[in-house]
Amino acid sequence: MSASPFDDWIAHDEEIVELLAREWERQTTTLQLIASENFTSPAVLAATGSILTNKYAEGYPGRRYYGGNQVVDEVEDLARRRLVALFGADHANVQPHSGANANVAVYQALVDPGATILAMRLDQGGHLTHGSPVSMTSKAWHFVSYGVTPRSDDPDQPGEVIDFDNVRELAIAHRPALIVAGATAYARRIDPVPFREIADEVGALLMFDSAHVAGLVAGGVHPSPVPYADVVTFTTHKTLRGPRGGAIVCREQYAKAIDSAVFPGQQGGPLEHVIAAKAVAFREAAQPSFARYATRVVTNARAFAAALADQGFRLVSGATENHMVLVDLRQFDPDLTGKTAQEVLDRAGITTNRNQIPYDPRSPFIASGLRVGTAAQTTAGMGEGEFVTIAGLMARALRHRDDDAELARVREDVAQLCHDFNPYATFTG
Ligand SMILES: *Cc1c(COP(=O)(O)O)cnc(C)c1O
Repeated sequence: MSASPFDDWIAHDEEIVELLAREWERQTTTLQLIASENFTSPAVLAATGSILTNKYAEGYPGRRYYGGNQVVDEVEDLARRRLVALFGADHANVQPHSGANANVAVYQALVDPGATILAMRLDQGGHLTHGSPVSMTSKAWHFVSYGVTPRSDDPDQPGEVIDFDNVRELAIAHRPALIVAGATAYARRIDPVPFREIADEVGALLMFDSAHVAGLVAGGVHPSPVPYADVVTFTTHKTLRGPRGGAIVCREQYAKAIDSAVFPGQQGGPLEHVIAAKAVAFREAAQPSFARYATRVVTNARAFAAALADQGFRLVSGATENHMVLVDLRQFDPDLTGKTAQEVLDRAGITTNRNQIPYDPRSPFIASGLRVGTAAQTTAGMGEGEFVTIAGLMARALRHRDDDAELARVREDVAQLCHDFNPYATFTG
């Protein structure tokens, strides 16, 4: 078993060292196709593992409740400045511990309890924090949900794209205080302009949740929602390739309300080690090499989608325009559920997640779809050819799902591919 380069730091704790070594093995010998994951740089890892974790810093730079924050204030200010510059925003808050926290903070800042928020349906691509019954958001606010257009067999108009007529009708009927754009399982580009127009028509504020596509926006391959939305939330660990966490940018007029909602409204002390790592990631995302990365993520996804279609999988909405591909498994094999497909692929060393597709007859736990993404393996250096190979490996594993020997052979091919594209190879020698 190969040791990770970070083991020395905790060498005395054998149990954790052993678990880290196993996870290192998993991440470097199996394919990471979960659309919300990535491989961070060693610089991001180092900042996340830094002594800044020792510091309490409730409050904001220059206005802390504890002493000793001279350095930490500069760290957080640097992160905020880099983020404001990256997205051309008025104001940034880098404290949210996660994307979910960022979203709830915005609702808390801008929407009275019980007032109406219009967001995307969870079973058609929205996020739990967009008002799912199992999320506290649905208990504190009244959510109305828009969806996607029906599927059609016309290849030029495949459907399953955001239904802006539906968004507008619901906005007029329910007069929401806030409209939420953005999705967690949606392979098309989301245009902020029609959302802005509808929000203006009904006097609603607009929040754009760009958790998934923040890296594509930073890299210039997706339209920036910042000029159109009152507030933009995102995660820092998906396509943006930073540490696990959230962030918010907003117009100046909402800065105070947003800051107060994050702290003390929701959170206690900020994770300044993670904020340092966010600063590292924002700097990385501003480099020309990151724009090239973002472009490759999208071209790889396009090649991956075409190759999956060639293997007999139906693509939800017929295409991809971002880093993810949503596959409807029923055409490939009507008996194959998302749950089984995910489990079979796991055995073949291919990490994915099952996902509901629009109007899915199966429950979220079983599901008829699979979601895959290119962000992580593109970081590892893979290109279009490798993603065509991966589509073939996925189809092979799923066709031979009852054949252990064939699954073992797929796993060997996967391991070889991962050996040739180790994201940390240049750093571990
Ligand atoms: C991932 C995601 C979130 C939440 O991020 P966490 O860091 O997991 O809390 C919120 N919104 C959308 C659209 C997401 O995809």
